[in-house]
Amino acid sequence: MSEGSLKTSVFVILLVVAGMPAHGELDAAIASEAAKIEAQVIAWRRDIHEHPELSNREFRTAKLVAEHLTKLGFEVRTEVGGTGVVGVLKGGLPGGVVALRAEMDALPVIEKTGLAYASKETGVYEGNAVGVMHACGHDNHIAILMGAAQVLASLREAVPGTVKLIFQPAEEGAPKGEEGGADLILIETIFDTLNAKAASFGVEEAFEQAGRTLPVMISGTITDASGRTLSGQTTEAFYNSIRHIKPISIGLNCALGPDLLRQYVEELSRVCETFTSVHPNAGLPNEFGEYDLEAPEMAAEIIDWGKSGFINIVGGCCGTTPAHIRAFAKGLAGVKPRQLPELEVRMRLSGLEACNLN
Ligand SMILES: [Zn+2]
Ligand SMILES: [Zn+2]
Repeated sequence: MSEGSLKTSVFVILLVVAGMPAHGELDAAIASEAAKIEAQVIAWRRDIHEHPELSNREFRTAKLVAEHLTKLGFEVRTEVGGTGVVGVLKGGLPGGVVALRAEMDALPVIEKTGLAYASKETGVYEGNAVGVMHACGHDNHIAILMGAAQVLASLREAVPGTVKLIFQPAEEGAPKGEEGGADLILIETIFDTLNAKAASFGVEEAFEQAGRTLPVMISGTITDASGRTLSGQTTEAFYNSIRHIKPISIGLNCALGPDLLRQYVEELSRVCETFTSVHPNAGLPNEFGEYDLEAPEMAAEIIDWGKSGFINIVGGCCGTTPAHIRAFAKGLAGVKPRQLPELEVRMRLSGLEACNLN
């Protein structure tokens, strides 16, 4: 990326981030703040380029980022997933949350550009001595996001909602044998069964490469009162389509509130040979995109599912808050989890409907 386009990138990112309507004054303020820090962004980029760090070793980079965000008044978390940094800025106007991400790691590549700020760093990658270089543009991404952070912080009062900046470690993939930081894999909010199957295939491949496996949870989404996923399957048909993945749990989440979801949770509980999970929405969103179901009302429904023996794992999706989760946990504390059903051996097929043959 040429340095001339750095400024444009900061500018473009900000317009997307803030999601603000075209507004002459604000546009001018963003452009003016971006212009003020252009030289600084270029300097950061060169500094980061000269000091690249391999995956899971982004210590200097993380420190640079964390110090900058702290100075700007972001809420900063460090050591996220190893060397990651997350910064949160609450804007002065109401609105949703927008996340922006930059990767922090460099590649095991020897730099031969001859630039004044070329990397002379070396490292060890999977047992081999290597050069280290930002050959994938992460130096630009970091510098631009640091610049965007500064512009957002300076216009904080005009920012609607919350901006979350995620500086991600090990985007290129951790070296073999290093932990990625996950305890299990959840493939969720599945509207389309084929996509879920593709995801599970990807997960299997990643397990094979890593030489170890993690538990997999699967969670589908019934999109409306027709009782079908977006790709048209009934709950049981969806179950039949993905049971070969042998997840530790299969469940339903998002879209419908618990009142509308109950019959499908019951159906899943009846046909599912493994544990069941549910994390519904706090009702369907209203015309403002907000969720109206309060913790006590929602907990009453969820506790009923527990007492009916439908569920093993419970949580909340869109619109739920820590208060909702606390209410579920409290209400379910003494309730026995669902017993796995004894199902007869059948060939379980599916199209849009289930077809079980004996
Ligand atoms: Zn990359
Ligand atoms: Zn949701």
